[in-house]
Amino acid sequence: MNDGKPRCCKTVYGSGMGFRGSSCSNPGKEQVGDKWFCRIHSPSGEIKRKERQAIRDADLNTKWERERAERRYAADAVARCRELGIVNPLLEIAKVQP
Ligand SMILES: [Zn+2]
Repeated sequence: MNDGKPRCCKTVYGSGMGFRGSSCSNPGKEQVGDKWFCRIHSPSGEIKRKERQAIRDADLNTKWERERAERRYAADAVARCRELGIVNPLLEIAKVQP
């Protein structure tokens, strides 16, 4: 297939059946050697995509770590209260209030 216009040389694996990919039909925007890549698959585009992904992953990891720490904190607090014979700290506080 050659209609004169450069086409992206990347093989894409869609959400369809099977494992065979089909070639990306986007017009070529960036040439590397004798190969053309579309805006999405160009090496510079891939780098940008990976950078964005890395930032997203870092954000997500921070969020998960925080959630883990919060759960751990809550579990430790409950364990310590049990050690001290406090069943439910909120109930204990409520009792003190007139
Ligand atoms: Zn492409």
